[in-house]
Amino acid sequence: MSVADKIISLRNELPENCTLVAVSKTKPNEAIQDGYSSGHRDFGENKVQELVEKQEALPDDIRWHMIGHLQRNKVKYIAPFVHLIHGVDSLKLLKEINKQGEKVGRKIQCLLQIHIAQEETKFGLDSDELEELIDELDSLPSVKIIGLMGMATNTSDMDRVRSEFRFLKKLFDELVNRELDSLQLKTLSMGMSGDFRIALEEGSNMIRVGSLLFGERNYAN
Ligand SMILES: *Cc1c(COP(=O)(O)O)cnc(C)c1O
Repeated sequence: MSVADKIISLRNELPENCTLVAVSKTKPNEAIQDGYSSGHRDFGENKVQELVEKQEALPDDIRWHMIGHLQRNKVKYIAPFVHLIHGVDSLKLLKEINKQGEKVGRKIQCLLQIHIAQEETKFGLDSDELEELIDELDSLPSVKIIGLMGMATNTSDMDRVRSEFRFLKKLFDELVNRELDSLQLKTLSMGMSGDFRIALEEGSNMIRVGSLLFGERNYAN
């Protein structure tokens, strides 16, 4: 099956309010072109350099999602075009995004990444850091927080995965009414190839799917 066919069949399975981000990291431009030919426009990458190179080479109307851990010194390279930054995991990073957004005259859309997994290694804010960040939002007019993002523990224990997604949905529901100029939550980004069905059952409205569409990757990411 072509990437286009796989995208079409997955999208047919999703609820209407759910956005599919096709995660094309490590995959060649031809594979993205293939997916693009289905009419799909949301693609995700996790490395800044790769994202910039693909953005330059591929059609202008692709909505590029930065899904990986983002280093502050690299924000400037993606600020002019990025559609949504999923992995905002510190106030320092958000301040840098605000600064670069101001420079290029854009209000950059972001998701706050929340630490929900058991593993120490997964990035994300805890509840204290989240509160601290929200308190500063009034001073950051060139960013807009439109949702939350989380990654569940990489485990075959699907009860655990489900409870982590449920925790994030609960947090989302608590914050949804806290509307500030720079905080208007509507997007809940959770679920990947192995767990998106559970994520959807737990209230996700944006899934990030790579290997299921593009095939296995050659190196771990
Ligand atoms: C790679 C990646 C995905 C997609 O993973 P698959 O298991 O290939 O679907 C989703 N989210 C993030 C943050 C990723 O880095």
